[in-house]
Amino acid sequence: MDSKNQLSSRSGFIEPSQHLAARCVFSYFRTMIKKTVTQLLEGANLRLTRTRKAIAQLLYEDGLNRHVSAEWVARELDEAGEKIALATVYNTLNSFVEAGLLRQIQTGGQAVIFDTNTDEHCHFLRESTGELIDIAPGMVDLGKIPEPPTGMRVKGWDVIIRVD
Ligand SMILES: [Zn+2]
Repeated sequence: MDSKNQLSSRSGFIEPSQHLAARCVFSYFRTMIKKTVTQLLEGANLRLTRTRKAIAQLLYEDGLNRHVSAEWVARELDEAGEKIALATVYNTLNSFVEAGLLRQIQTGGQAVIFDTNTDEHCHFLRESTGELIDIAPGMVDLGKIPEPPTGMRVKGWDVIIRVD
C-alpha cells in the first residue's frame, strides 16, 4: 500500500495513522543502521567511496538522529583529519537524499538542513540558532489541506514551527 497516495485522497484530510506504512519501513531501515555503514550504503545501492563512507560514519554510526548542514559535515570531517571540499560534501549529501538515507529540509532563506530521520515528522525551528527540534509523530494536526492541482499528487509535507 502506498501511503503517499492516500495523502491526496480522502478529501484532503491527513491522519497520522496514514503514515504507519512509512514508519514500518523506517523501523526496518533503523535496524539496518545498527549494522555497518558499508551495509547501509550497499543497501541503498550507493557505490562505496571513501567520501560516502566517511560521511555515513559521521551521520549514522552512533544510531542517533541528527539535523546537519553541509558546512557542519565538512567542518567535522576536517577536524577528524578528512579534508573534503564543501561542494563534494553537498553532492554526497544530495546522493544520500536521492537514495532515501536523508531528508532535506528548507528552513527558509538559503539554509538547507539534512535530517537523518527520514520518517514523516514536523519540526520546531529555534530562529536564534537555526536549531531544528523534532516533534513527535501525531502531535501536529494539519486539519484540511487543499487538493493538489489536476494531474499532480502530494509527495510529502513539511511543517516548521518557528520559536524563540
Ligand atoms: Zn527531524
